[in-house]
Amino acid sequence: MPLQPSSPHHVLVLNCGSSSLKFAILDAQTSDEVISGLAERLGSDTPSIKYKFQGKKTVVELDKGQAHANAIDTLVKLIKDHSLAENLIAVGHRVVHGGEHFTKSVLIDESVIEGITKAAALAPLHGHANLLGIAAAQASFKGLPQIAVFDTAFHQTMEQVAYLYALPYKLYTDYGVRRYGFHGTSHYYVASQTAKLLEKPLEHSNFISAHLGNGCSVCAIKNGISVDTSMGLTPLEGLMMGTRSGDIDPGLFNFLTTQLDYSAAQIDDLLNKESGLLGISELSNDCRTIEDAAVTGNKRAMLALDMFCYRLAKQIAAFMVPIQRLDALIFTGGIGENSDIIRQKVIKQLAFLGLDCDEQANLNARFGSEGIISSAHANTTAVVMPTNEEWVIARDAATIAQEQ
Ligand code: ADP
Repeated sequence: MPLQPSSPHHVLVLNCGSSSLKFAILDAQTSDEVISGLAERLGSDTPSIKYKFQGKKTVVELDKGQAHANAIDTLVKLIKDHSLAENLIAVGHRVVHGGEHFTKSVLIDESVIEGITKAAALAPLHGHANLLGIAAAQASFKGLPQIAVFDTAFHQTMEQVAYLYALPYKLYTDYGVRRYGFHGTSHYYVASQTAKLLEKPLEHSNFISAHLGNGCSVCAIKNGISVDTSMGLTPLEGLMMGTRSGDIDPGLFNFLTTQLDYSAAQIDDLLNKESGLLGISELSNDCRTIEDAAVTGNKRAMLALDMFCYRLAKQIAAFMVPIQRLDALIFTGGIGENSDIIRQKVIKQLAFLGLDCDEQANLNARFGSEGIISSAHANTTAVVMPTNEEWVIARDAATIAQEQ
């Protein structure tokens, strides 16, 4: 249902990580940002909140050990101090895992909390933080509808052939072990914006979108819906990322435990926090630092970039199987929106799909600009499309709130 133009339409968007809380108040109709910020190092000795309001950046130190509920208390005070509460119509929560139960955004009630709690078993760190955020926001914003928007929902259109692991089937039926995929709001948003840019109905469009941020995933979109994606049961599967390994041989577990005496927790840290661009470069997980080092001839930085691009190109090529015809390759996320080097390297390896990069258009596409970066004689289009997950969350929340 479209939003009612006359009604207030500010939505508080909350994105709770295990030790962080990203927040923003957005106008659900225009995407204009009223305030945005990040509480980080929650639960540590030095938690803080930084926020941007009317172009001014401010940092507030929190007391030692303060966590999500305290950060939300401070946020409530900020909202009151800046008189931002009057126009709020809803709180939208980014929820990482919706399991199989949630195929779209929903108004949060007792049964939804139960569903999120159940799905949290599949992603304990994220799930627990999401539940903390919801509880704190419910206590602080009594009377405002709270809406959950799931990272997994867009991928619930995948078929069994794509989402099952070749494991004993009982692990799926009894414990929900399957591929779910993440970054769904982003893949959906950039696909719909790209369809608009190309003046093509989304439901007749076949895209492959590459969301490349600290976490990275590729999504195969056929006739506007997700038919496959590179992340799986957790956001660890698939591409090489900032600190995550992406795909590895599962036999590595046996080697690490029996030969090197690793514990399960150490393996989890190794694969999630010490691998990817950081693990190979031994410099940083930050793509900018690695690109700068590569330019000065740092061999490991060059290798990290080459591996990142090779693995990404390989995954994109594999997704031609489910979609068969590619209308556009989409780059998004901090790396996808800004790194001309990575886009160019990937497109070069995919020349056999009819892709070809326009050097100048590729260089120009950065800092939030959208546009076509393929050359005039390319047979397949490549675009850069800035993502805006917060806006999707705000729009869904506003729409559901107005239906109440
Ligand atoms: P998150 O997944 O945390 O939302 P982002 O989407 O903001 O992360 O992406 C962060 C990544 O984007 C980092 O690796 C960062 O180095 C990279 N990035 C940001 N700006 C640039 C740039 N100008 N060139 C290359 N990489 C960039």
